[in-house]
Amino acid sequence: MSKRGETFGFKQTRAEDTAKGRTSGAIRCLNCFERIIPPDEAKTYKCPHCGYEWRISWPFPNFPRIRGPVWDVNRKLAEKEVSEKGWESYGAK
Ligand SMILES: [Zn+2]
Repeated sequence: MSKRGETFGFKQTRAEDTAKGRTSGAIRCLNCFERIIPPDEAKTYKCPHCGYEWRISWPFPNFPRIRGPVWDVNRKLAEKEVSEKGWESYGAK
């Protein structure tokens, strides 16, 4: 039954990898768009790439979604950025 083996060939494997990436709990940081993997059932998670912190919800086990930013943390980061780069980088005139 070599035909059977072909059905589970390269393409299938790649599709499975993508699916695995999702179910293992990876999401994309909405600030830097890096892939981040919060620990199971974490309420909040700080992106290790840019330091922004996100509120996480779990509609399914191992399937996190970003609900929104943790404002206290992100506002401080934004303020720091503004004080370093100036308001112009935010489009204020
Ligand atoms: Zn990030």
